[in-house]
Amino acid sequence: MILTQENYYSKEANEEYLSVSQYKDFCGSVGRLGCEEQALAKIRGDYEMETTTSLLVGSYVDAHFEGTLNIFQAQHPEIFTKSGTLKAEYRKAEEIINRIEKDELFMKFMSGEKQKIFTGELFGAKWKVKLDSYLPGICITDLKVMKSLREAHYARDIGLMDFVRYWGYDIQAAVYQEIVRINTGEKLPFFIAAASKEKEPDIEIIQIPQEWMDDCLSGMEMNVKKIIALKDGEIDPIRCEMCDWCKRTKVLKNPIYPDMLIGEI
Ligand SMILES: [Zn+2]
Repeated sequence: MILTQENYYSKEANEEYLSVSQYKDFCGSVGRLGCEEQALAKIRGDYEMETTTSLLVGSYVDAHFEGTLNIFQAQHPEIFTKSGTLKAEYRKAEEIINRIEKDELFMKFMSGEKQKIFTGELFGAKWKVKLDSYLPGICITDLKVMKSLREAHYARDIGLMDFVRYWGYDIQAAVYQEIVRINTGEKLPFFIAAASKEKEPDIEIIQIPQEWMDDCLSGMEMNVKKIIALKDGEIDPIRCEMCDWCKRTKVLKNPIYPDMLIGEI
């Protein structure tokens, strides 16, 4: 199928194409364990992630820069109070937008083509990517609104870590760069245009080191082969027994010991 802004997130598109968020659903990132069964349930439409206020604030800022804020506001009446004013969280989103718009460099990185879709074959799978800001021949930029940009996340066996690697944004950078290269022949640098939701919003343009992207890509092939087999129903998915999907669908079989309660992250 040909992907458009209208069908990009459809069930059909998710079945036919692999995306970075699907990949992370299957394989996880440092900060979140993957769950094959939940990933498949999401693709089938049996499971939908809860839309939290925190996610919606990010989407609000995204929609502003895409130029689709009117549509977003119409689709999410819950962001307004009964008297028709924006709820506090979304006034915060407005504050973040105003802070970003005061910064020339940030706006330069966000000045590319918005929500540009590319598809391409990588490791035997058809991928879809959607770029927040694409400046052909110059760079790819992804807008992220985070709780904090400087908070160090703890990962077992690794120690403290920046939000970029903790949430697997290096994986996103690697795939986006490669799919753009396959389409255009240009290997472009990848930047995260980041803003925080703190009382005083913080902003940064963060370049993802090329070695990180190279490392990510070189470790993906086996995982992608497995995801293809899972999506084709050739092998059975493994349950993580930790996520909301596994909690909802679990059937107790026997008692456990306390040391089995602590997971890998
Ligand atoms: Zn699970």
